[in-house]
Amino acid sequence: MTPVDASLNSLFVGDHLALDLLNTQMMVEGQKRDTLTNDEDAARWLEHVGLGPAADLTGLEDGRLVAQLRSLRDSIDTLVAARRENLPADPSALNVFLRPAVPQLLWEGTGAPVLERFHQADGVARRLSQIAFAAAQLLAEGDVQLLRKCESVDCSLMFYDRTKSHKRRWCSMALCGNRHKVAEFRKRRAQGAVTPQA
Ligand SMILES: [Zn+2]
Repeated sequence: MTPVDASLNSLFVGDHLALDLLNTQMMVEGQKRDTLTNDEDAARWLEHVGLGPAADLTGLEDGRLVAQLRSLRDSIDTLVAARRENLPADPSALNVFLRPAVPQLLWEGTGAPVLERFHQADGVARRLSQIAFAAAQLLAEGDVQLLRKCESVDCSLMFYDRTKSHKRRWCSMALCGNRHKVAEFRKRRAQGAVTPQA
């Protein structure tokens, strides 16, 4: 199996910002793995999902960024799990991340005005509130039937099924989908359903 480090990209399978954050923590061959281990990881991840350059997040208090991102992840994790089980949950931890940002109309010079939906001077708070908003929207307005975990028993990756048929089963074909196909083929062959060409 390819080590997870090989490509951070392979983990962006959630098709949703909040789920991609959950997917930074995963089960790999029975072991829990976390790709957010320090501020640099966190800054790189935020840049990768389009929330602004990692370079803008230097010079922060050591460990603050990764700690906050992980704490946001924990709160989303709890709420998503509850939503999928149809259980009640307390959203106050997520609401803390939503609170700092407010919409603001910016108008500089003679250029067109810009609507900044998540206006907040603190770059960390702004980024985290955007993820929190995406998570809140998913929880409140998303279709819970489409909020799923990869069907592979030893894979914990989550995704929002945006396929037309809504029959997505795997985190990705390259990871679990192909492994399943190979296993199914072997099973059918063992049962004699597939006759090798003589
Ligand atoms: Zn999978």
